[in-house]
Amino acid sequence: MNGDALSQDPAELQRRIDSSKAHPARVYDVFLGGKDHYPADRDAAAAALAANPRGYLDVRHNRDFLRRAVTTLVERDGIRQFLDIGTGLPTAENVHQIAQRIAPDSRVVYVDNDPVVLAHARALLTSGPEGRTDYIDADLRDPARILEQAAKTLDFDQPVALCLVAILHFVADEEAYPLVRELLDALPAGSRLVLSHLTEDLNPENIRAVQRTYTERGFTFVLRSRAEVERFFTENSLEIADPGVVPAHRWRPDHAAPAPERPEESYLAGLDDIDK
Ligand code: SAH
Repeated sequence: MNGDALSQDPAELQRRIDSSKAHPARVYDVFLGGKDHYPADRDAAAAALAANPRGYLDVRHNRDFLRRAVTTLVERDGIRQFLDIGTGLPTAENVHQIAQRIAPDSRVVYVDNDPVVLAHARALLTSGPEGRTDYIDADLRDPARILEQAAKTLDFDQPVALCLVAILHFVADEEAYPLVRELLDALPAGSRLVLSHLTEDLNPENIRAVQRTYTERGFTFVLRSRAEVERFFTENSLEIADPGVVPAHRWRPDHAAPAPERPEESYLAGLDDIDK
C-alpha cells in the first residue's frame, strides 16, 4: 500500500467524508446499483436520471468498454501494467480482476480523490500473489504526485496503460489537456491511453440536461465533442486504434455487454494503439 492510504485514521477519514454534497464516485455507484452512497448522492442520481432516463444503461456500457479495453490490452498487446485514475467505488469487475484473470502477474495502481473510495480501497487490493495492486489517494490534477507514488509499484521502463475512464468531464480544458500530456510524457514507448468521456454529440438534449443537474450541485462538468476527445490522443502523437473514438458500446463489442435499449448514447470511448 502506498503512502498513507490504508493507514488512515478512521476518524480523520470520516472527517473528510462530506455526505451533505453529492460526489461523482457515489453518484456513479447509484447508477451501477451499488450500496455506497448518501441521500445527497441519490438525489443527484435521481435528477440526472430524470434528465436522461437511460443513464443507468450508459454507465454499464462505459464500464463494459473498460472491461473490453483491459482484456484487449492484456490478451492481445501483452500489457501488464495499469494506472487507473478515477477508479470509482469497487464494483464487480475491477481492472486488476480483469487483468489478473488473464495474466496473474499484472500490476494495477488505482487513484481516486474521494475519501469514500479510499475507505473501500481494501477491496481493490486483493491481488493474486504473482501480481500487485496499489491505491493512491490523490487528485488527477496533481499528476506529479501520482507519478511519484505509482513508481513504487509500476515499472516505468515497461509499457503502462493509462486509464482515464469517465473522469475527464470533471476537469476543465485548461487543466485537462496539460495534465494528460504530463502523465503520458512519463510513460515509455508501447504505453496506451484508455479514455471514455461524456459527450453532447450524441443524445444532446438529455445530456445537456444532465450537465445542468451536476453544475447546479457545484461540479465541474465538461461535455466534450468527438474532436475534443480525439485531441487527447492526437496532440500527444498517439494514433487512435480501430474503430476510433466511437460510442462506448460500439467499441469492439463482444456481445457480453447489455444490449442498447435505444440508439442514443452518451459516452464516447477510444484507445490508442501505436508506440509513441
Ligand atoms: N473509472 C470508473 C469510475 C468513473 S466515476 C468507471 O468508468 O467505471 C468517476 C471517478 O473519478 C469517481 O470515482 C471520482 O471520485 C473520480 N474523480 C473525479 N474527479 C477526480 C479528480 N480530480 N481526481 C481523482 N479522482 C477523481
